[in-house]
Order: sequence, then structure tokens, then C-alpha cells
Amino acid sequence: MQIKDRYAPSPTGLQHIGSVRTALFDYLFARSTGGKFILRLEDTDQSRCEERFVQNLYDTFRWLGFYWDEGPDVGGPSAPYVQSERREIYRNYALELIEKDRAYYCFCSTERLDKIRQEREAAHSSQTGYDRQCRNIPREEARRRADGGEPCTVRLKIPLGERDAPVTRYHDLLLGDIEWKNSDVNPDPVLLKSDGFPTYHLANVVDDHLMEITHVFRAQEWLPSTPLHIIMYEAFGWTAPEFCHFPMVVGTDGKKLSKRHGATSIDEFRNQGYLNEALVNYVALLGASYEEGKEVYSLGELAERFSLDKLNKAQAIFDYKKLEWYNGVYIRMKSDRELAELCQPYAVTAGLFGGPAREPSEEQRNLFIRAMPLIRERLVYLTEAAPKLGYLFSEPALPPVEEFIPKKADLTAAVDLLRRARDLVTSLAEAESDEDAEVRVKEYAEANGVKLGDLLMPLRVAITGARVSPPLFGSLRILGAEKALVRTDRALAALTRQPG
Ligand code: GLU
Repeated sequence: MQIKDRYAPSPTGLQHIGSVRTALFDYLFARSTGGKFILRLEDTDQSRCEERFVQNLYDTFRWLGFYWDEGPDVGGPSAPYVQSERREIYRNYALELIEKDRAYYCFCSTERLDKIRQEREAAHSSQTGYDRQCRNIPREEARRRADGGEPCTVRLKIPLGERDAPVTRYHDLLLGDIEWKNSDVNPDPVLLKSDGFPTYHLANVVDDHLMEITHVFRAQEWLPSTPLHIIMYEAFGWTAPEFCHFPMVVGTDGKKLSKRHGATSIDEFRNQGYLNEALVNYVALLGASYEEGKEVYSLGELAERFSLDKLNKAQAIFDYKKLEWYNGVYIRMKSDRELAELCQPYAVTAGLFGGPAREPSEEQRNLFIRAMPLIRERLVYLTEAAPKLGYLFSEPALPPVEEFIPKKADLTAAVDLLRRARDLVTSLAEAESDEDAEVRVKEYAEANGVKLGDLLMPLRVAITGARVSPPLFGSLRILGAEKALVRTDRALAALTRQPG
């Protein structure tokens, strides 16, 4: 039998870490078993679904770099893959369940249902859900009323025993055997709404069956829905798929990951300058472990290693620091050219190339590529390239005089040091390498009896505009002697203009 799993989001929000983790496990499971991975849009709650969230879904997965084999945008044998385009299908299945006496028409008005809820609240009752008033209307009478146009919904008849409530059982691939007393299951949930739209439960079960889904993976927040679904499969006489409910993704405080903890949508991580590979690698480890001692995996390596016995039962704690670490790891794997390409969109937005949204010229692009070795080791986010490298693209603002003065020195000493350093600028800009530059500076410092640090500090400020900056020697080589001298002289002029 062909293995098929599906990612079935409702486009009611941006794609976030938890849902992407489900999709990634779907993808990895399909890849590791030679199966198919399907995308199905569950947009039955039309009031909450928006087109921009559908676009966000496509954008997110294109960026993340793993995609479905069948879906609304790529087609496939079970099309359409959007539930609002399958409306007609569901109605007949709801009627089939009525025929089988496993569902019934409900004529209760919203007002009545609201009233029950309010009365229960006032009485502090623990009872929730429908009171099953319409369950006992004789089938013929109910059908007559429905055919006559009386507004109605269709509800699932949860089997209830006379004395001991029956139990619904299923085997979860991760959690093992699960049992629900039917009396604890949502009392007769709506399957078909009065506007003819199916609810999640009906559309989900019918589609999983029609699309021949063999494995349903979803987060544990869906656990209460599963007995309902099992009851429906059984009522239709269909074989239920295998279920596997993943542990929740939580923050370090053990609570469900949310805005309170930090970024949760993939868009936010992307805008912050995360690499897709870092996110995919980290998300793949949320609730799974692959090989002892190995933390860095490409998508291909994950697909080779993934299997259900790699999943953990414990909650998956989302650690922002760890994700940051992964970002650094992937940044350091990139060549200069690749890294520059990744950083470029952020640098364009930041105006690095001469103004907001300005694309780099050929010359600027080459400069940007050459500058990557200066920042690669310390870069955590792709967004940091522009602020770190601004001084290479335009003259930095001249910092306040105090910035030029080394510890335990005064302005006169700083001016003297900068003058001495000036003598070295051309030589350093022409050095072959950092090592070569170091030898040149050391020799000079020794011959002139100055401390290496004191000599270079005012020069760094003059060249980069700050005491803390990317490596000075590399910066001098990239900038070239001519520009570096202009900056040094500019600084000297400013320092000597000061009174005293
Ligand atoms: N539409 C549901 C969601 O938004 C699907 C849950 C499931 O996988 O059954 O996550």
C-alpha cells in the first residue's frame, strides 16, 4: 500500500513553528518510506480564513525548501485539495450517516444553544457541549422537517451505552493504546452546519478517507478530536488511518510556545535574519532525536534518518539560544559568495548600498563579497552584515574625540599615536595577509617603543568609526591605502583642531 500523509492547515494565520514541525515530519516520513506528502487546505471556517495566509503558506515552504508532492498549487490525483472546493462531497456523507442512524438532524437555534451555555455557567456546571435534545426526534419526522426547509445542522451520534458508557479505543504510534469513555467525548458534535458547510471533523475524516491517507500526524492539542474521528470511521465502515500525535512545542517555562516567548511565525524568523537550513535543522529536532552526538543535519540527512521510533514523548522545548547557535553554524558553512547573496536582501533594505532599497552596483557587490571573511565568524543573523560593514561603503561619522584616546593616555598622546599609525597605513593596506600585517605592525611598535594595542586603537576608530569593529587589518586591505589615509587625516585634523 502506498504510504500517504498530509499537512492539513487552516489558513487562519501565519505559518508558525508548531505547524511547520508537523509539515516537516510529514515530509520526512513520506521521504523515508517512499510515500507521498500531501497539502490540503482546511478552509471550512470561511470567516477566519484569508487569502494572504494561503500565500504565506506557499511562500514559507518555498523558502524553507521542502514541498508537498500533491496540493492545491501542484495538483494531483485527489484534486481539489481545498475543502471549500469540495463542499458538495461532504453533504452526501453527512446524509449517509443519518441513513445509518449514526447522525441526526438538529433543529436547535443558536439562541437556544447560547441559553444552555449561559445557564450552565450561572450554575457553575461542569457540563459542556450539546444537551442532545434533538437526538430523540424520530428519524422520519426529522427528515420531513429538514426537507421542508427548517434550518438545521447534522450532528454525530456518539454511541452511548445504557449503563456503562462504551469506550473508544485506538492505538497511537507514539503514545500507545488510548482509551476514551464516550461520555467524555464531545457530545454529538456538529458535522454539517446550517449553511451547508462541513465542520472540521466531517471534512477532515471524509478527505483523509477519499485521499487514501494512511498516516495522520498532528500535535497533541488534537487528541480530543481523535475519538470522534475513530467513531466516524467506524460509522462509515472505513478503515481509520494510523494516528500519531506529536508532543507540544513549549517555551522554557513549559507553556505552549506563543508570542510571549518570542518569535513564533516563520516570517518573523526570516525577517530577523535566520537561514532556512538552520530553522529546518532545529525544527526537525523538536521532539525527535536521530544520532547520538550529531546535531547538524541537512534535509537529505534527516530524510535518510527519520523514522517514527526517533520521536520523543516528552514536550519539545523551544530554545531560542540553540536556534541562534544553528544559525551561526550554517553561516560559517557558506562561501563568501553564498553568504553575501544571503545577506544582500537585508543589506538592501537597510540602505547599505546608498539609500533605502537601493540594489548594489557591480563594484559594491564585489566589495560586499570580499568583506564576508571579516564578519563570518561573528555573525549571528544575516541582518547584522549591513550595520557591521557600513564603514566600508561610506565614510563613517567621526566619533567624539574621547573615543580615540587609549586608556591611561590623553589627547596629545592619542594624536601622537595616530600620526605614527598613519605611517603604517599604506604598508598595512598592501600586506599579503593578516599574519603579514601583524609582523609589520609588531616590528614598527618594537622599533618605536609603543604598545601594539595603543598604536592600533586610534587607527581603528579613524578607519571604522568605532572602537569595536570587524578586524582592522582586513578592513585596511579591502578599503585600500588611499581611502584609509583620507580617513586617518580626517581624524587627525579633527583631533588637532581641539583646544589643548
Ligand atoms: N485543520 C487542522 C489544523 O488546522 C488539521 C488538524 C489535523 O491534522 O487533523 O491543524
